[in-house]
Amino acid sequence: MFVNVIGAGLAGCECAAVLAKYGFDVKLHEMKPVKRTPAHRSDGFAELVCSNSLRSDKLDNAVGLLKEELRKLNSLIIRCADETRVPAGGALAVDRELFSEAVTDYIKNEKHIEIISGEVTDIPDGPTVIATGPLTDGSMLACIEALLGDSLHFFDAAAPIVTAESIDMSRVFSASRYDRGSDYLNCPMTRLEYFNFIRAITEAETVPLHEFEDKKVFEGCMPVEVMAKRGDLTLAYGPLKPVGFDNCLASDGRKPFAVVQLRKENAEGTLYNIVGFQTNLKFQEQKRVFGMIPGLENAEFMRYGVMHRNSFIQSPKHLTPYYSLRTRPDLFFAGQLTGVEGYVESAASGYAAGLNMARYLMELPQIDFTRKTAIGSLAHYVSEYNGGSFQPMNICYGIMERLDNAPREKFRRFIALSERALTCIDEIIKEYNLK
Ligand SMILES: Cc1cc2nc3c(=O)[nH]c(=O)nc-3n(C[C@H](O)[C@H](O)[C@H](O)COP(=O)(O)OP(=O)(O)OC[C@H]3O[C@@H](n4cnc5c(N)ncnc54)[C@H](O)[C@@H]3O)c2cc1C
Repeated sequence: MFVNVIGAGLAGCECAAVLAKYGFDVKLHEMKPVKRTPAHRSDGFAELVCSNSLRSDKLDNAVGLLKEELRKLNSLIIRCADETRVPAGGALAVDRELFSEAVTDYIKNEKHIEIISGEVTDIPDGPTVIATGPLTDGSMLACIEALLGDSLHFFDAAAPIVTAESIDMSRVFSASRYDRGSDYLNCPMTRLEYFNFIRAITEAETVPLHEFEDKKVFEGCMPVEVMAKRGDLTLAYGPLKPVGFDNCLASDGRKPFAVVQLRKENAEGTLYNIVGFQTNLKFQEQKRVFGMIPGLENAEFMRYGVMHRNSFIQSPKHLTPYYSLRTRPDLFFAGQLTGVEGYVESAASGYAAGLNMARYLMELPQIDFTRKTAIGSLAHYVSEYNGGSFQPMNICYGIMERLDNAPREKFRRFIALSERALTCIDEIIKEYNLK
């Protein structure tokens, strides 16, 4: 008996590792290096296609809680992220190459996992987990659509990366907001610089994407130029907000009107990404317009921002809270394809799908992590959402079960929710004797 896991991304690797831990043989199918999606660059597994940050690592933040739950559950992805982290204030950012290498090494050395290179073009019979990610394409996309009777389309964008040596360090300052260290480089803008930049970015040429034109852009990964077009001050109140820096001045000697942040991409600090600058501008326009940011006048772009398709299934129609298909209990979906949004969320769904597949095969009851936990809340969100149009979701406290007598103050309420969730995870680990 073996389980097919299709896709060695964040969800697929986590899922395969869990199945292997419970003694199941896994055939992990990965199409790289034979074929790559437009966003995947390397041949390693669990490739981070855009930001190198797995976001907050604090327990007053829902994604920080999700990580802590996964740590308790011995998640492969979080273990490798912890081992390869780079400084990023209160966030868990990683050296993306070392991170992918750590996951790949583990998978390659796991005796229960056989790696099968090549694109899977059909949904196999027998126990299978589909974790082909948001860029699922071609025959696999067609097979999923035929199986579910739905079409899956959607769009998303990625931020550019520049080399550290090309940044004019005399124009930037290093600090994390609110005195949380000095992990970011910050480019302070005067009022005049900001409005010139807004004019340029809103007038710059974008890549013509005819097939995408009528599609909605996901709010959580909106191209910076789309955000800028919403209003002259939208960026100044959003990713460029100049708050949390007490002692910094722009080139006119005044407090900055806006601040662009650059985050380390690798442990050596030789690369930085422009935070919040997912974009669909043409490459030469990115160089011209982003070169107006103080400090980036001569920036050398290691990777330009790009825009991609993001596919997900209508999970509330099709999935149980264990990520299995309602009409075929030995077929599970995991990762971004299920409508969870984000690296950590994808890994979390991979964990839950792997664990429940293992239990299905052992003829044991499935595990409901419940809406008291972050991992369970995601599973319930994707399988039970009953609002308007179903859209991918990052973990947030809003989808978790409310607390009785919750503290009114937000920080204390979030901490209380996290404490309840972690207690619940401990109980589940004990009750089901999880490894
Ligand atoms: C452009 C872009 C930028 C993003 N940026 C961020 C970000 O900055 N932060 C964040 O938290 N999330 C981001 N996301 C969302 C999401 O977190 C990531 O896409 C994440 O990698 C999803 O994990 P996954 O395991 O579902 O898919 P993936 O990590 O994409 O893994 C899927 C794997 O399946 C393989 N595969 C696909 N089809 C087949 C097939 N037919 N046969 C065999 N193998 C196949 C692929 O090669 C890939 O290795 C972004 C998404 C996109 C598209």
